[in-house]
Amino acid sequence: MSASFTVHHRDTSCGARLGSLITPHGVIETPIFMPVGTNATVKAMTPEDLRDVHAQIILANTYHLYLRPGHRLIEQMGGLHRFMNWSGPILTDSGGFQVFSLGELRKISEDGVRFQSHLDGSYHVLTPELAIGIQESLGADIIMCFDECPPATAEYDYVKRSLEMTARWARRCKDAHRRDGQQLFGIVQGGMHYDLRARSIDDIRSIGFDGYALGGLSVGEEKEQMYGVMECCAPLLPQDSPRYIMGIGAPEDLIEAIWHGYDMFDCVMPTRNARNGMLFTSQGRINIKAKIYEEDGGPLDPQCGCMVCRNYSRAYLRHLYRAGEILSSMLNTHHNLHYYLKLMQDARSAIRENRFDLFRRQFISGISKEKPFEGGIHSCLE
Ligand SMILES: [Zn+2]
Repeated sequence: MSASFTVHHRDTSCGARLGSLITPHGVIETPIFMPVGTNATVKAMTPEDLRDVHAQIILANTYHLYLRPGHRLIEQMGGLHRFMNWSGPILTDSGGFQVFSLGELRKISEDGVRFQSHLDGSYHVLTPELAIGIQESLGADIIMCFDECPPATAEYDYVKRSLEMTARWARRCKDAHRRDGQQLFGIVQGGMHYDLRARSIDDIRSIGFDGYALGGLSVGEEKEQMYGVMECCAPLLPQDSPRYIMGIGAPEDLIEAIWHGYDMFDCVMPTRNARNGMLFTSQGRINIKAKIYEEDGGPLDPQCGCMVCRNYSRAYLRHLYRAGEILSSMLNTHHNLHYYLKLMQDARSAIRENRFDLFRRQFISGISKEKPFEGGIHSCLE
């Protein structure tokens, strides 16, 4: 049970729910997508742009900010909100996912993880206590426990030992956490094994957190496996606490997760794909590089009310992309984030009216006519 989270309505047609999460920097309406601002910036977007697309909360990465410019510097500059001029809520991850993605560059022990910086090769040790200390210095509204995220291919026994250690680390994180007004979320691991997921939920629930996250998804598994884990975990998580799935995903993954009763999501997909010229529209995903848009004077998405679709043609967006112009990343990112956040707004309206099950079916039948889209794997080095 979380004092700051309220479920206002449960859709009668499925597990979806409408909630609000109170933080020191504002109230977040859920379900919500959180744009990723790795280096204390959502790439190609100013904080004013983020407000234009109705971002309610953004995510920043502890690993990156610890290495550069350093959490002490950010603290000295008045904390992350002031440093980046974002007055809304912020969530920071614990750095665990990034450190474990370093592969050969890291060594795990009960104490923590010794790793080499991807920037300059320098050695560092990240422990549960330090991960919390860094996040307290950064001053985010919501912070995450330090966990181990094994790869999708990890053996059962490895995943089992790993989640036991993750539970001990979660206890250490909770004991280390001091900062008032900052919520601490626990992370459930267990790979694609349902019994281990259930075990991890038991462990993390018994410690008790302000919210609960599923880690270890979107790490290269099949969509059916991801959806299976969502389904198996949803009934086991506390009903009255926020539920966050880390690192997903494609729009259809968010819809599936909301249907099961998850509330919060983050992924680099809309921002990274934007910079690669891949855009989400009401008529499907398009690649703005394609020659068919060369003489297309129409808007990117006639159904979209964003600043880009109101003012620029597909032909112009294609030209900007091909010319390698900075404005290409800016406009494409603006539209893609608007698309994701509007999707969340539409999802909330559907839940309010008990029609989310129909909303999901219509959405899935719309995208099933499209070709599969590359770039779905959760990656740390955006
Ligand atoms: Zn648009």
